[in-house]
This record gives sequence, C-alpha cells and structure tokens, in this order.
Amino acid sequence: MSIKSLLILLLLLIFNQPLFSKEYKWSSKRTFLGFLKEHHIPQKIYYNMDSKDKELIQEIKAGQSYSIIREKGKIKRITIPVSDELMLEIRKEKKGFKAKYIPIPYQLIEKTISIRKNKDFKKDLYNATKTWYYGKELEAVYSKSIPFHKMKKGDRIIIFYTQKYRHHKAYSSPQIDACLIEINKKPFYGFLLNDKYYDSRGKQYQRTFVYNKSGFIRPIRNIKRISSGFTQRRYHPILHRYRAHLGIDYAARRGTKIIASAGGRIVYRGWKGGYGRVIEIKHKNNIKTLYAHQSRFASGLHIGSWVSQGKVIGYVGTSGRSTGPHLHFGLYKNGHAINPARYIRKKKTLKQVKLRGSKYKALRKLVRHYRPQFKEVKAQKNNIVKKESQKCLNCFKKLPARN
Ligand SMILES: [Zn+2]
Repeated sequence: MSIKSLLILLLLLIFNQPLFSKEYKWSSKRTFLGFLKEHHIPQKIYYNMDSKDKELIQEIKAGQSYSIIREKGKIKRITIPVSDELMLEIRKEKKGFKAKYIPIPYQLIEKTISIRKNKDFKKDLYNATKTWYYGKELEAVYSKSIPFHKMKKGDRIIIFYTQKYRHHKAYSSPQIDACLIEINKKPFYGFLLNDKYYDSRGKQYQRTFVYNKSGFIRPIRNIKRISSGFTQRRYHPILHRYRAHLGIDYAARRGTKIIASAGGRIVYRGWKGGYGRVIEIKHKNNIKTLYAHQSRFASGLHIGSWVSQGKVIGYVGTSGRSTGPHLHFGLYKNGHAINPARYIRKKKTLKQVKLRGSKYKALRKLVRHYRPQFKEVKAQKNNIVKKESQKCLNCFKKLPARN
C-alpha cells in the first residue's frame, strides 16, 4: 500500500467515527466573534448573552486549550474554559447552536501532610513539599494570631487539604480544609467553613491576609457601592444556570478617577470586547490587575509605562456594556482570577467572631469528621507528605464549604 492510500484510509477512519474530539489552542490574535465566524456559528449567541456573561468571554486566554467534538465532520460541541471552574459550552441542537457556561468536571482528592517542626515551620514545610505555599497558607489560616515563634522542635504540623485534578493533572491551588499546629505540645486546630477558619469551638481566627503586605488599595476613592462581588461559579436558582464574575464591580459616577491599586507596569491599554476600554497593570509576584469599562484613559500613559500606587490611570464609564457606570476590577495571580478583596488592604477588625446556631452545628460536624483522621495521623511516627487519603475521596462534596 502506498503512503497516499494509507493516509486516505486513515482519514476515512477518522471521519467515519461517530464522534471525534480534538484539542486546539486559542491563539493570541483570535477574537471570539472571529472564532464564531470561522466555524459558521451565528454571532447572536454572543450578542444574546447578558453583560456578565459577555465579560467572561474576555477571560479566554491566549494559549488556552479548548476542544471541538465533531460528528461526521460537523461540529456537535465546543468547550472553552474561561476560568479554573467554568467553561463555555457551544452545543449544536435541533434549532441551532446554544451557548452556556457549565462547570469544568474535575476530581477532588484529599491529601495529607504531617511533619514535625525542626528549625522553622515554614522552612520545614518547604523542605518536605518543595513549595512555600503551605507555610504561607497556614500563616493565613491562623492570621498570625497564635504564637508560632514559641513552637518547639518536634511540635506537629498536620494539614488535610484537597486538590483538584483534571485529566490526572493537578490544577488550581490546593485548599486547606483542616489543620493542626502544636505550639509547645499545645494543639491549635483550624477548620474551614464557608471560606473562613475556626478553632474547634467555633471561634474565628482573625483573617488578616499575609498578602496584605503587598498593600493593594481600592482602585477608586469615591465608590457608591460594590454592585457585584467576586464569584468563581455559582448556580443561579432563578436563571437556572451558572454565573461567574471574576472581579469586583464598583458603582461610581461617570468620570470618577480610577487609580492604580499598586505600583506596576502597564501591559495592556485598549479595547477588550465585553470589558470595553481596559488597562492591565503587571505587579510584582506575578500579579496582574485589570480595570475595565473605562470612559477614557488618562493621557500620557502607554504600554510599558510605570505607574505608582494611587496614580490616575483612567476614568469610570460604561464602555463594552450598557448598564450603569462602574469599574470592573480584576486581580490575577499566575494567570488565575482571584478575589481582589483578599488583596485589598483592610482595617483590622478586632471583634472576635464566634459561630452560633446552625453554623456552629455545621462546624462541630466538621470537627467530628476530622477527629479520627487527626488521631490516626498523630499515631504515626514518620512524616507524611502529600499522601492520598483513600478513605475520603470526594467526601468534601457533601460539606458546606464546597458548594
Ligand atoms: Zn464586572
């Protein structure tokens, strides 16, 4: 058989398969509307989206892989991730193409780290895991409200965390679900409930984020209100679909000054689809901030300009969408959207929060859930590093912090 006939045979095999899925990479020059045109999909699927869903289209990153499933050469389904949690699904139905956001399927695996303090707990964790992540997160869990410096050699550090996997590859940051730090043999437990950490009696560890050292400030001085907060993915009970909003919307009068949240270099200044007039600033530690819907940019700035914190970079408007004037403020770390509220400097709240009622019950349920696991890990002499817990595969889906 010649190579040519072999190729033809191969092509026949491929196209006769009922469903054929192929992965592609989103190129930096590609626009969403151009993409639709290229695949003969009506542009109205974009124009019919509401403003929040249109915004999300701008989150498709250059280099992002996406997949197209074809049946006998015809497009059946396209999926394009827009964040760590959601992907846009374009599906061929009888009446034509339909687009909606759906969660990206993933596997959740619980893992364990258990070490003893040797020199410095953060360094010890680094030596065991080869990342500073867990040490920094632990500091954030306890908000430095416990005397870490009084730890003695041999004190235990135990972390139960969950990691998401997609196609057998870890993605997005691990989440600490429960942890223990001993300080001179005295145990300090931490349990995650609805994005906050509590001790076993329901007292909240004051969460002052370690990141606050980087000192980001609100990108606007006179805000009317926050009109929309950050959500990775939320099922909307009335709209019956998934919503996400990867930033904070600050409602403000048109023309209100927008200021740089921290010092950095302008890496984008121009139009960006649903985000309208956008400036992006790159800061240290691989953090990027995004300022969208501007009515106009401040003059004298361009791509490559260095701006210091508080410098006026533009003015509030409604570009890219039609509802009221506001600033959409996004913050990205290593390309992942993060809630900017976590980074913006806040006044310290001194009030100690303590859980009551049903929330307290939910916390106690968590405590009971983890008690035998802590016991089991404590009984082991050796260090445990990122060991998979067979017992609790996917068990967190049932717990309140997860959904
Ligand atoms: Zn927004």
